Amino acid sequence: MKPFVNEPPLDFSRATHREAMAQALAAAHRAAGMRVPLVLGGERVDLPRTFPSVNPSNHREVLALASEAGESHIQAAVAAALRAQPAWGARPAVERAAVLSRAAQHLRARRMEAAAWITLEAGKPWREADADVCEAIDFLEYYGRQMMHLAAPVALQTEIPGEINECGFRALGLVAVIAPWNFPLAIAMGMTSAALAAGNAVILKPAEQTPLAASLLCDALLAGGVPDGVFSCLHGPGETVGAALVRHPEVGLIAFTGSRAVGLEILREAATVREGQRGLKRTILELGGKNAIIVDATADLDTAVPDIIHSAFGYAGQKCSACSRVIVLQEVLEPLTARLRDATASVIVGPAEEPEVQMGPLIEGEAQARLRGAIERARREGELICAGETGPLGERGFFVPPALAAGLSPSHPLAQEELFGPFAVILPVVSFDEAIEVLNATPYALTGGIQSRTLPNIERAKRECQVGNFYINRPITGAIVGRQPFGGFRFSGIGSKAGGPDYLKQFLVAQTWSENTMRHGFAPLGEAV
Ligand code: NAD
Repeated sequence: MKPFVNEPPLDFSRATHREAMAQALAAAHRAAGMRVPLVLGGERVDLPRTFPSVNPSNHREVLALASEAGESHIQAAVAAALRAQPAWGARPAVERAAVLSRAAQHLRARRMEAAAWITLEAGKPWREADADVCEAIDFLEYYGRQMMHLAAPVALQTEIPGEINECGFRALGLVAVIAPWNFPLAIAMGMTSAALAAGNAVILKPAEQTPLAASLLCDALLAGGVPDGVFSCLHGPGETVGAALVRHPEVGLIAFTGSRAVGLEILREAATVREGQRGLKRTILELGGKNAIIVDATADLDTAVPDIIHSAFGYAGQKCSACSRVIVLQEVLEPLTARLRDATASVIVGPAEEPEVQMGPLIEGEAQARLRGAIERARREGELICAGETGPLGERGFFVPPALAAGLSPSHPLAQEELFGPFAVILPVVSFDEAIEVLNATPYALTGGIQSRTLPNIERAKRECQVGNFYINRPITGAIVGRQPFGGFRFSGIGSKAGGPDYLKQFLVAQTWSENTMRHGFAPLGEAV
């Protein structure tokens, strides 16, 4: 296998790419109303009971009807997984990696189509939708190769006479993957491909907002040659299908990315031993953030302003890594606030499929109401520096304008709780000490950053800012597989970093083999008795 390289993003400044994307979007609209079946034991299962996937830029458009799994489908998927996993886990890692690599190839071949579906279903502007596809391809290629490194047992203390000691890994068994809608292809594929590369069987429960993106994942894995039963995909509500998978006694690991509230619920459920359960359940929980960028007195505002705007309002702030707090040293408060106000007002908001649009809609009505409520609260309890009007757009889709607030203390709920939308608050500070203190004073520890031209400040921030991913003089979103392993701690999650060298070990159990080689004779060679 060739060494891993990241999938390059498409260049939409090229007319051929723009035209191809426009055609793919037109085709996706024509296909609206398509059915999305379950994947169960290698078969696609279309059920009469469905739920809709709507276009958040235009909620009257039903893009797809997804089959809703029931209890019998969960039991059938578990039974199929238990039958199929041992043979899959016994295959050489290189063969599993080849299956995942073929799945990546399938996605490459459907690159525009995949980006178009994500644009319509998740409300992602073109470049972000394309980045979602690239990341999914990267995960498939990266984890397959990582497993090839981990597959061979490691010999330990080889100088000890009369004894051979080796340590290695084996698959864990059955993994339930529960995924969010905000990277509907990439994150679901990341958790799923890691579990598969490690030799496990997977039952995926995608987010109910994005079944179409999940169907791309299913197509890719089946086209790649994942054996029947090793992978199933069950659509449906988290409260029923997700919760039933979490509770199932045969599930050995729950890989979850989503909200803190659901993550904590999963942690509680996983700790409850149920009849028939054969071991402790593991969890990987990748949760939210309330991420901040510090702007010190020496920052280059020409860089800081676009980096903050990109981090706060890219994909309408619906990234766990999004910047929702801007911590500003008093010396630059005035010019930075003025420039951020103008930059926020200039963000082009509109339907995600329009090529010039920088910020699309929120995912659903509930999120729209939550953000509208936050904007009103900031107006009442602080100062709203900027919040435009979406006009008729706000009726047609789940749009809210990007909002910038000030006049709120760092402990105010709007500066503490994850809102998951295009809302950022400016927090002035009088010293660098205070800047670091404020950055660290939330329950989360996911991403953070500094804009500065003072080396000692940068070095100190690297040491003292308690976040999983820290960025210097650049946006704080957009981690790339293999280059910026991603994940946080505290209430931002437990588990090792996605897209990094330690991630796969969570999907494996380690085993040590210790043999006394001072044998007392041998049985005839090759004969097992
Ligand atoms: P969510 O927690 O509402 O849903 C995530 C998944 O959990 C969905 O598939 C949902 O159906 C399922 N679910 C809901 N209730 C469940 C239950 N009781 N049992 C089992 N499954 C259940 O989150 P969301 O709105 O889809 O995603 C947004 C959240 O995800 C934000 O908090 C964001 O910060 C976080 N996120 C974190 C990362 C990360 O890497 N740390 C990445 C992306 C998103």
